[in-house]
Amino acid sequence: MPRRSEPVAPAEITPPRPPGSDAGLRDIAREVPAFLIELQHGADGAARLGYVGEGIRAVLPIEADEAMADPARLFAMIHPEDVDRLHATMARAAREQAPWHDEFRVCPAPGQVVWLSIHARCTPGTDGSRLWQGWLADVTERRLAQAALADGELRHRKLFDANPIPMWVHDRLTLRFLTVNDAAIARYGWSREEFLSMTLVDLRHPGPDGADAGDPQSHDGGTRPATAHHRLRDGSLIEVELSSQPLTWGGRPARMVMALDVTARRRAEAEIQRLAYYDPLTNLPNRRLLTDRLRQSVAAVIRGGRHGAVLCVDLDDFKRVNDTRGHPAGDEVLLQTAARIRDSLRTEDTVARLGGDEFVVVLERLDSDARQAAAQADEAAQRLMTVLGRPFDITDMRFHSSASIGVAMFGAREVPAEEVLMHADSAMYRAKAAGRGTIRFYDPAMQVALQTRAALETDLRRALSEGQLRLAYQAQVEGSGRTVGAEVLLRWQHPVRGAIPPMDFIPLAEETGLIVPIGQWVLETACMQLAGWARRPETRALRLSVNVSARQFRQPDFVQRVERALSDSGADPARLRLELTESLLLDNINDCIAKMQSLQSIGVGFSLDDFGTGYSSLSYLKRLPLEELKIDRSFIRDIATDPSDAVIVQTIIGMARNLGLTVIAEGVETAEQLAFLDRHGCGAFQGWYFGRPVPLPDFEASLRAHEPAAGADARTGVEAAAAPQPRQANPAPMPER
Ligand code: C2E
Ligand code: MG
Ligand code: MG
Repeated sequence: MPRRSEPVAPAEITPPRPPGSDAGLRDIAREVPAFLIELQHGADGAARLGYVGEGIRAVLPIEADEAMADPARLFAMIHPEDVDRLHATMARAAREQAPWHDEFRVCPAPGQVVWLSIHARCTPGTDGSRLWQGWLADVTERRLAQAALADGELRHRKLFDANPIPMWVHDRLTLRFLTVNDAAIARYGWSREEFLSMTLVDLRHPGPDGADAGDPQSHDGGTRPATAHHRLRDGSLIEVELSSQPLTWGGRPARMVMALDVTARRRAEAEIQRLAYYDPLTNLPNRRLLTDRLRQSVAAVIRGGRHGAVLCVDLDDFKRVNDTRGHPAGDEVLLQTAARIRDSLRTEDTVARLGGDEFVVVLERLDSDARQAAAQADEAAQRLMTVLGRPFDITDMRFHSSASIGVAMFGAREVPAEEVLMHADSAMYRAKAAGRGTIRFYDPAMQVALQTRAALETDLRRALSEGQLRLAYQAQVEGSGRTVGAEVLLRWQHPVRGAIPPMDFIPLAEETGLIVPIGQWVLETACMQLAGWARRPETRALRLSVNVSARQFRQPDFVQRVERALSDSGADPARLRLELTESLLLDNINDCIAKMQSLQSIGVGFSLDDFGTGYSSLSYLKRLPLEELKIDRSFIRDIATDPSDAVIVQTIIGMARNLGLTVIAEGVETAEQLAFLDRHGCGAFQGWYFGRPVPLPDFEASLRAHEPAAGADARTGVEAAAAPQPRQANPAPMPER
């Protein structure tokens, strides 16, 4: 047993000796990454460093005398995870009187790890103290190489280190960097130490447009290359292509990643793309990209059963600015034109510049109805005309122009994109030929239809003020044959085109909003009529049904408008019945119910028009304050021949009865239809069998003609018939179509 005064040297090396006088050896000792050490453990457990070799400088950022003066500073560098094990192996060595050998980590700075190996022997003192003498050496490199070898991966450490592509290994769970190569340090700007204190998440950036996936793990990469945006130390962004391999690192799952910087390549690709597909001045798609997109649009529109349009837009006076003011002024006008076109369209519409002042617009999502779609394209073209008609302010002048626009519709059939473009172009030339500031459609029929529609709209605006609108009255008859009232139906007597049927102008009035004043006029006229009838005993009991359109009903002050029409005329609200359609009610059912209830509270009744054609469900029918269901005439038409229509009609009648509503059938034309309806309990009828819609005097005349003889019932003398009888032909039936 060695005595305290005769310290035993560790087996591997000469025992510590006070630094010799040989300065050369001393210098060498300072450079060798290993150092001798003498550690004294007092009986009280206090540790003191009796000697530290100068080589410590080559391993740790501390001088030998500093370490001796403040051993705690050195101990504190020991990796917290290794402290307990180190104590355990040391205690065992002391207990067993065996050499102490261990390898442990020291962290001289955050994120920096140095592996040290210790070889020492213990000499116990009589007082329970212990003297440890031995040496420590830096084995970091060997440890890493071993770890890599042991893991069977990263064998080619040199390849990794010297690879010109940034590479690293990170922990797969914590994403912490475990090692990085020089290229990564050079490209990203962080030092090795900084890297090792960071995780992969610190590199991640959602990308300039925030498009990268938000999951940091996804960034972790699979074996397939994935692209990501990374943040450099100076804050700038790079785009990288990541390829990675799983491996284990010190027993933990890790991943070796190669991050190829593709920023420059992407930028070049984008530039090539821009040059090939975009107009350099306005940055709008050029002809090539337009043709591409148009091809896709044509296919999409046909697939979706819709329509699209191509608009060729040309400034009428562009050449003048260009010739007199030079190209910079011309460019300025083109830039403003591009911006104005862009701003007046939806984002999904394509705007392209083909060159010169020739712009092309593709409208994709237009209506499935060809005429409606053309009207939408026309609307867009009008909008473009307006914005391009405004003066252009350029550096030192103000430039006025107008635009000529050619429109070609597509969607009806498969056509090559190039053909549609050609059509729009030729329409644009026709627009130019027709004079500045003109829109022309390629399809002559479409052109005519649109012009007719535009003319109709102009005329309709005048129709009301010029007294061209009339009301026709169509009798509503009860089972007894008695006329209980009439439906008022709008008629437009056009000064040139003659009678225009409601179906040809009511949708237009609805679209343009003209239905609101027109509907108001119908309502007021009907109320005046009711008030007039109330003064005559023979007409006092008559009711009038008035059709109300969706747009009209949705006016916030609809209820007040009806109330005013009633009070201004003095009509009895109980004689007024408003016909609504199901589609109108479905829109905002609570608002509808509220409006209906407030009118119902003053006595106005409601009838559900065209019943059976919509999507009525019993549950919503129950909620509506209705008085009457009006069976659509499409069911009445085939009632005698089509068993399913017959069943539908019976069902409607039964349903109405259950809900406590009356039923009226519209479009009753024959005795068979009437007999069927009467047999199944329908209480009221309207249709040509009883009378066509006629002007007021004729309607009143027909009332008198059918007035039952005093004291006699309507059915007297018609014993054979179980139902009311047809009226004679109307004296002057109003044209139906
Ligand atoms: P509606 O309210 O369903 O009107 C019934 C339509 O059936 C009327 O067509 C009427 O003339 C027609 N009719 C009546 N009996 C028979 C028959 O026995 N056989 C056939 N084939 N047809 C018959 P009209 O007058 O052409 O009106 C069409 C639609 O226009 C109306 O359908 C209504 O939705 C709308 N409408 C008419 N006047 C107005 C109005 O003042 N305001 C609003 N918003 N819409 C109106
Ligand atoms: Mg109606
Ligand atoms: Mg109807």
